Amino acid sequence: MGDGTVIGFPGGSARGGIPRVAVIGAGLSGLACAERLIGRGWPVTVFDKGRAPGGRMATRRADAGGGAEDAGPRFDHGAQYFTARDPRFRGRVDGWVAQGVAAPWTGRIVRIGKDGNVEESPGERFVGTPGMTAPARLLARSVAPRSGVRVAEVIPGDDGWRLRDEAGRDLGSYGRVAVAVPSPQAVPLLAEAPDLAAAAADAVMAGCWSVMARFPQPLGPDYDGAFVTDSPLSWIARDSSKPGRDAGGGETWVLHGSPEWSQRHIEDDPAEVIARLTAAFRELAGIGPAEADHLAAHRWRFSIPVRGLDRECLYDPERGLGACGDWCLGGRVEGAFLSGLALADRILADAGPV
Ligand SMILES: Cc1cc2nc3c(=O)[nH]c(=O)nc-3n(C[C@H](O)[C@H](O)[C@H](O)COP(=O)(O)OP(=O)(O)OC[C@H]3O[C@@H](n4cnc5c(N)ncnc54)[C@H](O)[C@@H]3O)c2cc1C
Repeated sequence: MGDGTVIGFPGGSARGGIPRVAVIGAGLSGLACAERLIGRGWPVTVFDKGRAPGGRMATRRADAGGGAEDAGPRFDHGAQYFTARDPRFRGRVDGWVAQGVAAPWTGRIVRIGKDGNVEESPGERFVGTPGMTAPARLLARSVAPRSGVRVAEVIPGDDGWRLRDEAGRDLGSYGRVAVAVPSPQAVPLLAEAPDLAAAAADAVMAGCWSVMARFPQPLGPDYDGAFVTDSPLSWIARDSSKPGRDAGGGETWVLHGSPEWSQRHIEDDPAEVIARLTAAFRELAGIGPAEADHLAAHRWRFSIPVRGLDRECLYDPERGLGACGDWCLGGRVEGAFLSGLALADRILADAGPV
């Protein structure tokens, strides 16, 4: 197909039936896309390289030392919260709240300016409960993603597309493929549709270092989250102020390096990153001598798009290949969800009545 050959699926059907669909990525966009298609009776297989669904809507449990996974504090080290402005996403979020997997975060959020002045940053914000992965886990119940499978190749086959993993193992044959991974990871998977690969390559995603810190005592700041300028940090949050979190009498904080700082230090040693970002936090928040009893860092090579496409999704009906994700639309959780729905709708519309 790199030579421009096109695989046709007349009427959207493969062998007279509904085509099998592969969705690569079980973040919110892939899950939303898969759920929509499954709801219409389409056979869908979702692959994700991670251990659990959710992607960048991530929660990490720190092992407190006892070895049990549930023993330590928990941190949202990826997405911090989400907004719900579009009625379609708002309806879904209301459902999540009713089902106990999301709740409003009513913490005090501020902006700290260059000169240290503090301005309120009001707004309606939601979080997953008890962690950011919870909504994705709920969605995954109806989608049943295959975790721990990294798709390495999407190549033309007799019945449409064949997928292979890193070891060259065959992952099956599909009439439609939806690529729902960050844009730099999407580019090689879209290689057989050069126009789509070129569009994905146009999106730019920034890295982000995320530091997770637990303090045994409450700390001073009278805000729960702050957007920060003129600092190695761009965001700090008292994670334990979110609903459903328990820091055992202390406080958990998540500190995000700014896109510029993170990119400059992306290959640094995590211990060095922890030292630099906690020092910046100390200075900014004036937390005095308080010592953290847990510190960890996570490197996101692709965190948020600094240049998105401003398109709902990418889809080539001739090839039956498409892509969705926050880098197509909106750059955030809400955009990822809507992009996944948009791709499912394109696939359904293209198939006509099946
Ligand atoms: C540090 C950070 C802070 C953020 N803060 C916010 C915020 O406050 N508010 C907000 O709304 N958004 C925030 N975001 C962005 C938000 O997390 C994303 O917009 C959203 O989660 C993207 O969903 P997605 O489905 O597009 O991609 P992802 O969540 O990245 O899902 C992609 C999935 O694909 C899988 N994958 C990748 N390659 C392969 C492969 N080859 N084979 C199989 N599986 C693969 C990955 O494991 C992953 O699960 C933040 C993100 C980060 C990292």
